[in-house]
Amino acid sequence: MSRSDSRVVVVGAGVSGLAIARELAPDHDVLVFDKGGVAADTSSRASGMISLSLEPFPDEWATFALSQFHDLDGQGIFTFTDRDTVRLVPEEDAEKYTDQAPAGGEYLPKDELRERYPDAFSDLAAYGGALHYNGTGYLDALDYTMTLKWAAEQAGAAVFRDHEVTGLRVEDDSVVGVETEYGPVDADHVVYATGWKTRDLLSAYVELPVRPLRWNAVVVEPDTPLPEAAPMGSEPTMRVYWRTTDRGDVLIGGNEHLLSDPEGTEMGVEEEFRELVMERVGPLLAGVSAGTIRREDCCPTADCASPDGLPIIDAPDDVPDGLVFVTGLHGRGVMLSPVTGRAVRCLVTGEDAPFPMEPFELARFEDRSPDFEYRSHWD
Ligand SMILES: Cc1cc2nc3c(=O)[nH]c(=O)nc-3n(C[C@H](O)[C@H](O)[C@H](O)COP(=O)(O)OP(=O)(O)OC[C@H]3O[C@@H](n4cnc5c(N)ncnc54)[C@H](O)[C@@H]3O)c2cc1C
Repeated sequence: MSRSDSRVVVVGAGVSGLAIARELAPDHDVLVFDKGGVAADTSSRASGMISLSLEPFPDEWATFALSQFHDLDGQGIFTFTDRDTVRLVPEEDAEKYTDQAPAGGEYLPKDELRERYPDAFSDLAAYGGALHYNGTGYLDALDYTMTLKWAAEQAGAAVFRDHEVTGLRVEDDSVVGVETEYGPVDADHVVYATGWKTRDLLSAYVELPVRPLRWNAVVVEPDTPLPEAAPMGSEPTMRVYWRTTDRGDVLIGGNEHLLSDPEGTEMGVEEEFRELVMERVGPLLAGVSAGTIRREDCCPTADCASPDGLPIIDAPDDVPDGLVFVTGLHGRGVMLSPVTGRAVRCLVTGEDAPFPMEPFELARFEDRSPDFEYRSHWD
């Protein structure tokens, strides 16, 4: 690729901003600004569950993202671990799936589940079996984000921490740069990848239907390590998910809820979530109920919900030329980051995307108010 003189400023050095920088750096002059550190907000707290085959995404998004994770595996400090995923099915729902599992999954009755993953589960009395998916896996979100930064820098991008972008500079309805706390910076394109804050930061130019959303996760050291091949999983009545870690611990997450004032809300995992994990999730997984919580993760401010649970990645005609925004990752920003990066590249360069772009468009929402009802992954 030959380098163009076109300068792109990316606002936000989370997983989205750095995936975008990695895509554009080989042939653009890319500057990334973050008001805090790299992955300092939601990105470093992510559980790293890559469960694309269970999500309501076009197949092309899942195929593209997985191929990128596999290509990046072994570069920088990044490792991608392939793991099957199971979604437990309560006894009373089992009949729905015995003849036909949802697309991409197969139904495993309880005995088969235990046979396939010996020593992974403990008390499954309330379940008929599980839906089983492959093409899933996990990563360490901080290692992954730092590897995206490294790859973007190798390709010529410059990443600036502690540089707050305080405004967008627009002339004759075209972007000409940004204002930062240290002064103006010129740019041909400006990409905002600032999570839920994008709504406020761009309110003078566009109305974005997004809301702050918080998640909790804890890492439990079981009293005996789960087998290495134990599948990732989820439980729909408690609305929790889990995966093993490279240390033999178990990461358990959930408790998604909207926040009205993320920066004024106390940070930390809620006591009721800890209780749910130890008292109700623990008994399902071998060794967990007698285990010890070793780490707690919570969005420092918040992730970002959209009304339909899909991201908004767009550069519509009615905003200044050269402005692109990425928001509403809805708890899926890590698994979608390769798609996010390529989608923004296509919006900046005009290239065709190898996957459908229409589901990202802002125009799908007639009502852009942030008062929409929350749509959970589980509904
Ligand atoms: C506990 C937990 C578990 C999760 N698990 C998963 C998972 O398993 N799989 C998955 O795919 N996703 C998961 N997520 C969701 C995922 O973390 C987010 O969707 C993703 O990190 C969003 O990334 P982002 O880069 O868009 O936003 P952020 O990481 O929020 O980055 C935005 C950046 O913009 C910067 N910024 C804001 N305003 C300005 C400004 N004015 N100037 C400069 N910089 C600015 C912020 O400092 C921040 O660094 C989880 C989240 C949490 C909290």
